[in-house]
Amino acid sequence: MGLHTGRVAIVSGGGRGIGRAIALGLAADGHDVAINYRRDEAAAEATAAEILAMGCRSLAYAADVTDFAQCETMVNAVEDDLGPISILVNNAGVASKGQSVKSTDPQEPLRLFNAHAYAAWSLSKLVLPSMRTQPRGDIVMISSASTVYLAPNGAPYNMAKAALEALAATLAKEERRNGIHVNTIAPGLVDTDMGRRLVKGAAGVDDIRTLDASASFGHVCTPEEIADAVCWIVSERASYVTGQRIGVDGGTF
Ligand code: NDP
Repeated sequence: MGLHTGRVAIVSGGGRGIGRAIALGLAADGHDVAINYRRDEAAAEATAAEILAMGCRSLAYAADVTDFAQCETMVNAVEDDLGPISILVNNAGVASKGQSVKSTDPQEPLRLFNAHAYAAWSLSKLVLPSMRTQPRGDIVMISSASTVYLAPNGAPYNMAKAALEALAATLAKEERRNGIHVNTIAPGLVDTDMGRRLVKGAAGVDDIRTLDASASFGHVCTPEEIADAVCWIVSERASYVTGQRIGVDGGTF
């Protein structure tokens, strides 16, 4: 068991990829975890089952986090089922289509903003009333090295993640007086469905593991390495850390 047991966490997009690793990491540290998903119910239920087998409580909740009403229904259900949420991980996200500004459909920046920034704003707003009643609260944003690298043909994603980081920095100042820590973890390339699609689309790489040799520390980052950073930042070992952006990118950016 970890250092800080007995808290209730919710991980958006917690069924697979980085979100799954975060959910399992939080459970390994003794936290109960609500798993949010949009489409992949089987993955979310499987992750919840793994957490139950670890001895923590876990349930899967369907909600499109771009829809405020669905977020509200989900947060109410989690609090009814598991109790007040004291850890929120805003992880759910989508990639953009890799086109120049000139070629991008006008709806695409709005789709990305909603998925990354508006969703995190909505979930943060909804958990704050009960989080403020807890001894400690944590909101963690999963951003991206993209806000530093600002790759061409990525404006919708770069803009959306930049807005997410702006939310984190603002919220950290608003909520520190209420005992709530707000931090950003910013991965580089990670071996997930999204990461694999990204390197296939951008560089024609069929097997992401072929990039291990040229990656920092001899391997492409794993979801568990992102989860470790999240688990530390919500732990008692990060008791005076808020308003920070931590790049977990092997020093690439
Ligand atoms: P995946 O594509 O592997 O998983 C995305 C997750 O987000 C899924 O669980 C999906 O749920 C969920 N999701 C997407 N849209 C919604 C929505 N509207 N409502 C609820 N859930 C949603 O991505 P990763 O695990 O790689 O990415 C996780 C986060 O990390 C994202 O924010 C991403 O931008 C960021 N990131 C990823 C990097 C990488 O290289 N992989 C690098 C830097 C940052 P479902 O399956 O049910 O649709």
